[in-house]
Amino acid sequence: MRILIVGAGIGGTILANLLARRLREDLRRGGVTLTVLSASPSHLYQPGLLYVALGEMSPAELYRDERELLDPLVRFEVDPVTDFMLDAKKVATRSGAVHDYDLLVIATGSRTVPEEVPGLAGNAHSFYTEDAALRMCRAVQAFDGGKVVIVMGVPHKCPMAPLEMTFLLHEQFVRRGIERRVDMLYTYPVGRLHSIENVARWAAVEFDRRGIRSETFFNLAEVDGANRLVRSEEGSVVEYDLLIAIPPHHGAPEIERAGLGARGWIPTHRRHLTMQGQDDVYVIGDTTNLPISKAGSTARFQAELLCHNIAARVRGCSMTRSYDGKVFCFIETGRGRASYASFNYDEPPEPPSPSRSIQMLKTLYHRMYWASLKGLP
Ligand SMILES: Cc1cc2nc3c(=O)[nH]c(=O)nc-3n(C[C@H](O)[C@H](O)[C@H](O)COP(=O)(O)OP(=O)(O)OC[C@H]3O[C@@H](n4cnc5c(N)ncnc54)[C@H](O)[C@@H]3O)c2cc1C
Repeated sequence: MRILIVGAGIGGTILANLLARRLREDLRRGGVTLTVLSASPSHLYQPGLLYVALGEMSPAELYRDERELLDPLVRFEVDPVTDFMLDAKKVATRSGAVHDYDLLVIATGSRTVPEEVPGLAGNAHSFYTEDAALRMCRAVQAFDGGKVVIVMGVPHKCPMAPLEMTFLLHEQFVRRGIERRVDMLYTYPVGRLHSIENVARWAAVEFDRRGIRSETFFNLAEVDGANRLVRSEEGSVVEYDLLIAIPPHHGAPEIERAGLGARGWIPTHRRHLTMQGQDDVYVIGDTTNLPISKAGSTARFQAELLCHNIAARVRGCSMTRSYDGKVFCFIETGRGRASYASFNYDEPPEPPSPSRSIQMLKTLYHRMYWASLKGLP
């Protein structure tokens, strides 16, 4: 049985390591092969980009060699997939190679597409790529007061990152003694502060405490950099001095080009994580079209489930476990405190009041990131 995983981010890496452990004997005997194809030789710890933008981490701290993160039984090639030929059960890569598979897992993540909004790329700061986070860091450090506006497209990865960035920027302005000269406006595309109702209610209390203003039903239409204005599709016009954006997201361009899903989001069975209409193709992480948050924790929970079900298939059993939509996200609120949101398809989160003990757990979780990629509990 040939298992092929495309993408070596959180989902692809954890799944490969879990499968290597579960199928160790089959892999050693050669009855099963497990190959990971990736676009990059290194693994980026994406949550760290938030702290790069705030000047608290350097990019060098965020990378590890992917080969070293993977079990030696996993074949790893840096050779991005350029074409998915699902009917023939093959993928083609940039080097010209063609890989046959019996089971394919697509874990190619998501990417920002700032160019989708006129004027956004050249005028807004972001923290979703290394270069953008470094530029944002310089802009934030040079900022000495004025109007800060936070805008975003949905869906985006890390559902809590915009809230966290708002709280942490506010904390930085307080620390620098400039908060009285700063007017912060957080905008959101739907009629509340977050797509998850309980998180929106919780965030409203936290914003009130800090005097952060908000505007809802704000879908980005265009940015007029010359006049420092952002326009929404709803007709609102907002002035800014420092514009922070979480740009619109798409899945990988190869997914879009292959026509596997609109905007690169692959239609995925919400319980089995198979691609709709393709029983030999699984999808995990950001690239699914599931109505749940795009987060590292989502990819991790899905990888645990898929390991179980793929191992069962290798042994000739039918699928045994079903994904319940589980997601867990910390929400850092500044001043050494954090809250969290834990939820699934049926049970909404109830974020508790921010506390120091939750922040300690978040710090611990971040420190364990590299070890957890190896599939450790
Ligand atoms: C600033 C920021 C903060 C975040 N904070 C958190 C947090 O606190 N908690 C949390 O849970 N999540 C957080 N996230 C979200 C989290 O990082 C993503 O949701 C997660 O990485 C998704 O995992 P994935 O495996 O689907 O994709 P990724 O981890 O993005 O990996 C995708 C992989 O696919 C590869 N790839 C792409 N195209 C191809 C191709 N054609 N061929 C081969 N390989 C390809 C890429 O090189 C990459 O290795 C944050 C993200 C950002 C940007």
